[in-house]
Amino acid sequence: MPVLVMKFGGTSVANLDRIRRAAKRVGVEVANGYDVIVIVSAMSGKTNELVGWVGETSPMFDAREYDAVVASGENVTAGLMALTLQEMDIPARSWQGWQVPVLTTSAHSAARIEDIPPENIMSKFDEGMRVAVVAGFQGRSPEGRITTLGRGGSDTTAVAFAAAFGAERCDIYTDVDGVYTADPRVCSKARKLDRIAFEEMLELASLGAKVLQTRSVELAMRYKVRLRVLSSFEGQSGNAGTLVCDEEEIMESNIVAGVAHSRDEAKLTLLSVADRPGIAATIFTALSDANVNVDMIVQNISEEGRTDMTFSCPTDQVGRAEKALDAAHEQDVLNFQELVADTEVAKISVVGIGMRSHTGVAAKMFRVLSVEGINIKVITTSEIKISVLIDRKYMELAVQALHDAFELDKTA
Ligand code: ADP
Ligand code: ASP
Ligand code: MG
Repeated sequence: MPVLVMKFGGTSVANLDRIRRAAKRVGVEVANGYDVIVIVSAMSGKTNELVGWVGETSPMFDAREYDAVVASGENVTAGLMALTLQEMDIPARSWQGWQVPVLTTSAHSAARIEDIPPENIMSKFDEGMRVAVVAGFQGRSPEGRITTLGRGGSDTTAVAFAAAFGAERCDIYTDVDGVYTADPRVCSKARKLDRIAFEEMLELASLGAKVLQTRSVELAMRYKVRLRVLSSFEGQSGNAGTLVCDEEEIMESNIVAGVAHSRDEAKLTLLSVADRPGIAATIFTALSDANVNVDMIVQNISEEGRTDMTFSCPTDQVGRAEKALDAAHEQDVLNFQELVADTEVAKISVVGIGMRSHTGVAAKMFRVLSVEGINIKVITTSEIKISVLIDRKYMELAVQALHDAFELDKTA
């Protein structure tokens, strides 16, 4: 029988009623003739609670135990979903990641899926089981420890299963009815897209649109998985969601596909760094050794052998970055006058494949922000995106103003 993957996010399994509702949807697809692999998240709020408990117990925690704790939220919903399906007389059972097994790297809290041998689940389908409910977000390292895939990782579990089982489609059920031109919680005029190209979705996700985990889009693109985002709250009819697909499958599109924002950004500046060959290598090696994810980088013009170096990273990594750079300073590997951190910034990005062939998008973006009196602190661009760092207090205003200026509420 053809296989379908259906993933239900935290709000879609937030309580027993919602689990029943989700199970009914699964029942419809079973009746349509599919063998279904259901990937579940933890109940909404659960993972945050577990992360909090780990931090309270042990500030410098052992990442292996962190994973053992935070993976547990998904175990509960997987079992409850299987029980609910059984109550509906649908043959189903639950699987934790290690049981499948979902084989991952040993990068705890940010593991990557390496392989999902399908035999175990396939043999159960052959015996008449119709639904395999799998706990999302988790796997097993080569050392036999529980791993997790990073926040939002159940999306990636879902796409990886769709690829491993050659599923007809991977449906991501969530609390919005598709991918929008901007986060609908920030921009009321945001419009749902019927289709979006993999590359645009990849940029939007990596720039802050958390509707899909970035890695899930990467995998879908690589393995040609038909990926759909849709609401678990709306009825079946007219709830087609958004299809993430190849550029060629999209007839018409705006130059700019969407605006993304990322709230938890910080900007750090090293003032008056001795400017000599190898200085950037020294700074960014120290940061990478400390596992700081550096995003944007700007170096000022050098004056009298000294320069300023600015970079951005997630807010929760500022402490690590400061420690690493101060240590390099003390060891005389790096010579700078001062390290200034600004933790009140946000990143706003416009994304669109159309930028490859149209000029003027950057100029328009900067003009719009200037009219609103918003100062740009750092800029980066790629072929299909432009990102700026601004004061966080202007984040919503910037998203809305850019959405208006690029007329994203209208179709091309
Ligand atoms: P789930 O728990 O189902 O995985 P998430 O909270 O991870 O759901 O992702 C869905 C959320 O993503 C939405 O509630 C929405 O606020 C946010 N979001 C951000 N950008 C977008 C966008 N461009 N389109 C749709 N949703 C977006
Ligand atoms: N429960 C995990 C999280 O909140 C994984 C997921 O929901 O995708 O990040
Ligand atoms: Mg999510």
